[in-house]
Amino acid sequence: MFDKVLIANRGEIAVRINRACQELGISTVAIHSEADAESMHVRIADESVCIGPNAVNKSYLNTHSIIAACEITGAQAVHPGYGFLSENASFSKMLEDHKLIFIGPNHSHINAMGDKIQAKKMMKEFGVPTVPGSDKAIESEKDAINISKDIGYPVLIKASAGGGGRGMKVVNDEKELKQSLPIIKQEALSFFGNDSVYIEKFIDSPRHIEVQVICDSHGNFLHLHERDCSVQRRNQKVLEEALAPGIENEKKDELFQICVGAMKKMQYLGLGTLEFLYENGEFYFMEMNTRLQVEHPITEMLTRIDLVREQICVAHGEKIFTNQENIKPLGHSIECRINAENSSDFKPSAGTIGLFHPPAGNGIRLDTFIYSGYKVPHYYDNLLAKLIATGRTRNHAIKRALRSLNEMVIDGIDTNIDLHKKILSSEEFKKGSVSINWLENNIASL
Ligand code: ADP
Ligand code: ADP
Ligand code: MG
Repeated sequence: MFDKVLIANRGEIAVRINRACQELGISTVAIHSEADAESMHVRIADESVCIGPNAVNKSYLNTHSIIAACEITGAQAVHPGYGFLSENASFSKMLEDHKLIFIGPNHSHINAMGDKIQAKKMMKEFGVPTVPGSDKAIESEKDAINISKDIGYPVLIKASAGGGGRGMKVVNDEKELKQSLPIIKQEALSFFGNDSVYIEKFIDSPRHIEVQVICDSHGNFLHLHERDCSVQRRNQKVLEEALAPGIENEKKDELFQICVGAMKKMQYLGLGTLEFLYENGEFYFMEMNTRLQVEHPITEMLTRIDLVREQICVAHGEKIFTNQENIKPLGHSIECRINAENSSDFKPSAGTIGLFHPPAGNGIRLDTFIYSGYKVPHYYDNLLAKLIATGRTRNHAIKRALRSLNEMVIDGIDTNIDLHKKILSSEEFKKGSVSINWLENNIASL
């Protein structure tokens, strides 16, 4: 196993990775910006290195400083977490050139899946059903008009390098298309450094269902069942659950076989998630995330597999400790993303946390990095904590999530705890199978 791993991230995920490393007997190196010197991930790591000022491009995205930090500390591998450099193929290549291991898939797979046009094309060739749309980048306005006519309005213009729910726009007719195309291209360029866009069918009221996979370098390609991430706001996940309610097991198994088959054809390595839209009994592939995901804990709770531990092990060349037959999810798990944000206008909130009281008890897991007195900086993502409630049944998990949200205290800053209570108390949510539009359409009346 590695002796020392550098964790190129911050917040709850850096804490999560630190835990997995220390349990494996790996010594850890935290990196941090100036604002994060007092942050939990720095406090619990075995060593830490300040890699720059607060702006992310000068710290958490500063590849040269990160590689220098590896050299100074003698770290052999880098865990990128999610966001930041986790899907940056040139960073993983740079590490390879410095004889360092990137804990993730090889860079050709990051590259291929990071370009959503190429990803869809590749998956289609592997027999994965995809969202109908253009199979190459939009070249001109005329091209966009023709493709949209073919698929039929409404269509979605999407940035091929997009992520985090940004870089997409629905258009209802040719006039809107002409207006929006240059705007989205410009946005794509400024957000993602790449103005390539594509067009796909806008699916009216689907659910977001995703399949978790893990692969090693010994010919094992496993799936860890699915998650339902349909509770979203602005195309960003708010609450996730596993397994997905109300979908026939046969239909799911068929999808798992297709996913595993595609991973085998790709010779994929490490953790990955294939994201699908699900409507009228059909699945449509949207994209693949070649990294650890925010919502991975709900899968861990049901399968009792430590995904981060396995991810590190397979990156080191080990075999996955289990096999497909032994992966039998048990119960139901729900994750609530607790964000620092205003409950009415959703503006990110920053400031000093007064009292923090975490919930606990049977079936409750809280992945966080905050503590009483912690100063939440305004430079970074506003995810404060992930509350993961697990029970025998879906109803049990919902009750547990509500009970623990009532116990939880985060004083001094605004959070979306109340929004989660409203979601979990809603009759429609309790019935299961809400679509990706449900939260946004009902948020005012919840
Ligand atoms: P997940 O599917 O793991 O929940 P998200 O889409 O919520 O993934 O993204 C995880 C984190 O990474 C979020 O903090 C998001 O803001 C960030 N992120 C994802 N993709 C990008 C990207 N292309 N550029 C910048 N940030 C991103
Ligand atoms: P990101 O890289 O930002 O996660 P995705 O392609 O995964 O981008 O899309 C994010 C979300 O946007 C999806 O979970 C879904 O809610 C919505 N979405 C994406 N594509 C479509 C589509 N063709 N029709 C309807 N909604 C879509
Ligand atoms: Mg996505």
